[in-house]
Amino acid sequence: MTRKVFLLGLDGATWRMLDVLMDRGVMPNLEGLVRRGASGVLNSTIPYVTPVAWSSLLTGTRPSKHRIFGYTVMENREGRVLSFLANRTRMKAPTVMDMYHQLGRSMISLNMPMTYPPREEDGVIATGMMTPSSESRFFHPPDLMDELRARGIDYRIDISLAGKEQGDLEDRLGAYLADGAARFFEDLDGVARAREAAVLHLMASKEWDLFQVNFIGMDRIQHYLWREITRDGESAAKRRAYEHYAYLDGVIGRIAERIGSGAALVICSDHGFGDVRGNFYPTVWLKNIGYYAEVGDRRTPALLLKSILKKLGISRKLRAALEKSDKSLAKKLIYIGTSKVDWKHTRAYAYVTNGIRINVRGRDQFGIVEPGAELESVKRDLRDRLLGLEDENGERIVKAVHFIEDLYGVSGLEEAPDLFFEFDDDHFHTAYYNVTQAPGVLDKGYSWRQGDHRRDGIVVIAGEGVVPGKKMNADIEDILPTIFFMQRLPQNDLFDGRVLEEVFTPEYVSTVDRPPPRSYEAGRPEGPGDEDSEEVVDRLKGLGYI
Ligand SMILES: [Zn+2]
Repeated sequence: MTRKVFLLGLDGATWRMLDVLMDRGVMPNLEGLVRRGASGVLNSTIPYVTPVAWSSLLTGTRPSKHRIFGYTVMENREGRVLSFLANRTRMKAPTVMDMYHQLGRSMISLNMPMTYPPREEDGVIATGMMTPSSESRFFHPPDLMDELRARGIDYRIDISLAGKEQGDLEDRLGAYLADGAARFFEDLDGVARAREAAVLHLMASKEWDLFQVNFIGMDRIQHYLWREITRDGESAAKRRAYEHYAYLDGVIGRIAERIGSGAALVICSDHGFGDVRGNFYPTVWLKNIGYYAEVGDRRTPALLLKSILKKLGISRKLRAALEKSDKSLAKKLIYIGTSKVDWKHTRAYAYVTNGIRINVRGRDQFGIVEPGAELESVKRDLRDRLLGLEDENGERIVKAVHFIEDLYGVSGLEEAPDLFFEFDDDHFHTAYYNVTQAPGVLDKGYSWRQGDHRRDGIVVIAGEGVVPGKKMNADIEDILPTIFFMQRLPQNDLFDGRVLEEVFTPEYVSTVDRPPPRSYEAGRPEGPGDEDSEEVVDRLKGLGYI
């Protein structure tokens, strides 16, 4: 028999923050679950960014199988190198929605990143981050939003800062974060309350064996206000942030109460969080050391037209109309940055957050680095130089560089960087990988970006057979196999993750039926028009990601 499982995602949740909040009595429900259940660190993917990490959670596989390595996916197509936004159509491994459909089980999925575009077979679904816009068909069944609206629920994917509000990002954020970040919190609270109302309504009114939902509040608060909320003393923004955490704790309590004792509750985050000291601009760095070259003013007609329209101050609406009137033009506008690269003189380029790809002959469309000895020496040289990067005080800022074959046991993937770098925690710099206009390789960062991701996320598992107070250390791809174990469902023979048996009592483990593993098919979601990606780019820019 399938046991019900509720998977509650708290995007960006970190024990660095939650331990403090539990100590101060701000999160009593979470504290209770930590006592009654098993908990610990959930190691994220490398790179530890939202689309990659959630893809691993949704598939139970590492990035080498689902092939999502960042916000974008690269393709050699039509004689060019194009960069498209990552979404489910580009994921190569079956998702939990696919598996549930093939098992004939019912699930509800709300606001999970990387679930767009939704399919009819998904059951009840509203997609999350990486959805092009709230105007796209982001939910199923078709009357889902009407159903929620009829109950007074104004369901939204994300805060509106990330949406279509116009103007310079710095100005927008300035207004948003002024006066104790009043507007930001008003927006964030509204999104979260509507999400909770939708969860409680759907929990009670629809059938489900698995309910998954992601709340994005912690991630957003920590990006903008990490320093503010972690320093001593009081401030209006810190008070509002604490109120939001307390509210989310209430959500945890209300969900736990409603699922009752027969179901398991799994709480997890996709990555942790910490301080940001400044930015590292890898493209600028690669250019400085002679690995990367740019075509001067050789822009594509589409990009040129776009920049002219922008200079003339033509409204976005009109531009959108102009762009839509010519589909091929709109299609050209989607690629982000690759049109600038002078491939004949580029040996390596920054590709996704904290990843570098080498331009290899025979593999890459315009490859110039010979496979074999030359490729190996380029990789070693880049690794050594990255490890030697120093900040203004002469301190090293990169703690590790991984070649993809060492990290994931594969190489030469069309979608992947060849090497990944991780910053030292105490000298962390976030990487704006495709920024080329920065004045230097490093800067002191943006006033509005106080925090950024860390690899160590959180996990809490409470339910039948769990050893109370048990501590664990898990990887994000372990979550789905463990849920399937608790539900007595056949494991996917593609899973890289393992069942976290150590969190259950031996008696429980010995009584759980384990059907033999099987294979599942990756569903083929209808590809959204690639031109939709423009909207996501705008939104990600609004959140400061790209
Ligand atoms: Zn995230």
